[in-house]
Amino acid sequence: MSDRGRRRLPPVREVLEWPGLAPMLAAKGRDQTRAAVRESIERARLAIAGGEEPAVDVESLGRLALAAMQQEGPWLRPVINATGILLNTGLGRAPLASEAAEAVDRIVRGYCNLEFDLDRGERGSRTAGVEPLLTRLTGAQAALVVNNNAAATILAVRSLARGREVIVSRGQLVEIGGNFRLPEIIEVSGARLVEVGTTNKTRLEDYERAIGPATAALLRVHPSNYRVVGFTEEAPLAELARLAGERDLWMIDDVGSGALRPGSPPHVRGEPTASEGISLGADLVLFSGDKLLGGPQCGIMVGSREAIDLARRDPLMRALRVDKMTLAALEATLRLALDPAGAGSRIPLWSFLTADRHRLIERAVQLAGSMREEMGLDASVIESTAFLGGGSAPLKPIPTAVVRIAPPFPAPWETESAWARALRRGDPSVVGRVQGGAVLLDLRAVVESDDRLILEAARKTFPAVCS
Ligand SMILES: *Cc1c(COP(=O)(O)O)cnc(C)c1O
Repeated sequence: MSDRGRRRLPPVREVLEWPGLAPMLAAKGRDQTRAAVRESIERARLAIAGGEEPAVDVESLGRLALAAMQQEGPWLRPVINATGILLNTGLGRAPLASEAAEAVDRIVRGYCNLEFDLDRGERGSRTAGVEPLLTRLTGAQAALVVNNNAAATILAVRSLARGREVIVSRGQLVEIGGNFRLPEIIEVSGARLVEVGTTNKTRLEDYERAIGPATAALLRVHPSNYRVVGFTEEAPLAELARLAGERDLWMIDDVGSGALRPGSPPHVRGEPTASEGISLGADLVLFSGDKLLGGPQCGIMVGSREAIDLARRDPLMRALRVDKMTLAALEATLRLALDPAGAGSRIPLWSFLTADRHRLIERAVQLAGSMREEMGLDASVIESTAFLGGGSAPLKPIPTAVVRIAPPFPAPWETESAWARALRRGDPSVVGRVQGGAVLLDLRAVVESDDRLILEAARKTFPAVCS
């Protein structure tokens, strides 16, 4: 059956030449049309594998591609993250709490008091709503919010050290995903980088020796996504902050992932926290809003009033400011994080981190069972490790449960990658991992109510074995 089906399918090139596609080729270009054709052939291939007999002549496949291109929905759509990487940058990093999403919805449909003081009836501050929450959460005097932590770093270095020198340990000259490379960030900020120490060892004396008349700041960067292990040493923040104070320099602390307080949430113990940075004497502490805080993408700066005011008055601030949607989501997230009754567990990331491993296993057993019984899939449960990701806590594996689906047919097109792709392109879209000849669906970052949707997606995706 399968071989016959494969032989009957025409090559992409031939379908592209079907005259009915000519207007689409002209309108959308060759790449997009070719992708749609490839997709229609792929779908026919899966249908054949499932025992169906779809029309596979050039015109039918061309029409399918045409229809698909005409009724394409929005490009950005929801995805179930079964990758086991909680802060997956490709999948939008931190999902928002319902409270945060509702806050955005409430604000964006009409006008709001974004920069308007309702009491006095005059121009107000954009970040007035979140500043008191951030200072309460971190113990800082003042706070500021920008577009992301990369922007926070640029603004901090620029407003405190432009035209002067910033001292950084060689063990902290990191690259964090894509194009956040610390030396380049300092360069675009208009400051000069002075490297001290070595990759594995930097002592307080290294900083002391490097301080000169042009020095403006010491910068500590949390090497979020890697660790120097073994024979290592870094000067503790408390000592660096004391040195900065003595020499009248700024102490900037880029903690990155931004755990708010020590110990919360778990699995991130040992990550530096914003409140720690403040209490140890940093003038500015920087972190992302969409890493451990579990809020919207933004960069949070907390610190002394003087340092924050300098950053706020920098002309670049205008280019880095956040919009009302971000502020609405951030305010709601911070309120949850501050809730003494533990509403923090409603922040999805926090609930993923605290989900009980045994419960994850139970869910996986149930899912795999349904896949086996209802769909005849070769599905089983394995215990594995998930990761925080997003450049955070690289060495802290999080125990998790994974549903492992192995393709039953060794037909060339029914590989585990083809299956994973079909799941990704399905509705709802489920993104898993491909490993060891199987598709792996990790439940650590899946909300329990989505298990049902995973099952549904599998049902639609694997007609080959679903009767
Ligand atoms: C993630 C990270 C950044 C970049 O933050 P974005 O919010 O992604 O721009 C900067 N510094 C550190 C230490 C980080 O971990």
